[in-house]
Amino acid sequence: MLEVDHLSKRFLEKQAVDELSFSIQPGESLGLIGQNGAGKTTTFRMLLGLMERTDGTIEWQGRKAHHLPLDRVGYLPEERGLFAEEQVEQQLLFLAGLKNMNKKEAKASMAYWLDVFELEKEKKQKLNTLSKGNQQKIQLIAALVHRPDFLILDEPFSGLDPVNTDILKEAIQNLRREGVTIIFSSHRMEHVEEICDKLVMLKNGKNILSGRLGEIKTRMDRNRIVAEAS
Ligand code: ATP
Repeated sequence: MLEVDHLSKRFLEKQAVDELSFSIQPGESLGLIGQNGAGKTTTFRMLLGLMERTDGTIEWQGRKAHHLPLDRVGYLPEERGLFAEEQVEQQLLFLAGLKNMNKKEAKASMAYWLDVFELEKEKKQKLNTLSKGNQQKIQLIAALVHRPDFLILDEPFSGLDPVNTDILKEAIQNLRREGVTIIFSSHRMEHVEEICDKLVMLKNGKNILSGRLGEIKTRMDRNRIVAEAS
């Protein structure tokens, strides 16, 4: 579905993403893991065409592409996209309209997601009057409202308490079961372990470890056993 080959981004002296390659098939989920400044957000911005790449190629469904088709993709940006002072419902419907959904479809989709997160009563409120966890759920709905089949989630769990982290995790796992393809970034391995089929670990923009999670775990266990034995 998506194949990224030697994707690179340089800012003057800084090599933010360094010849990154990975692929993802329909229905798979891939975790991009790395510390602050590893290059996760820059990778997403290049995939979405929000930032020009310095080098490398992106292939979408077997064809070279400048970026992913935005009507098919839902994006939860790290800095989150919604306006704090605006009403939840208005913003969600506006976003769905931007992605070419008609009003009836948009209303039905919004109602569906508000119901999933038990937030129907909050839809008339301004975003900043909601709790942090509820704001985060609304931000996720903003990425989902046009029913994308490919999701890019930049640090979806950052700043969330454990209860809301679990609710969001379950929502992501349900999307996965429905066949949505997902890439998400995290600082934390345990999030990736629970949700992802594949992992790419970034350090200073470089892919330092990647593969299917099961294989990586076996490899790591084997290395540990060898290290302990020697
Ligand atoms: P974080 O979790 O902190 O967001 P990240 O893995 O998403 O980290 P990026 O935001 O992609 O990392 O940043 C990668 C590197 O590129 C960092 O060193 C950052 O300072 C640098 N960088 C990112 N955007 C720019 C920019 N517009 N101009 C210059 N340098 C940038």
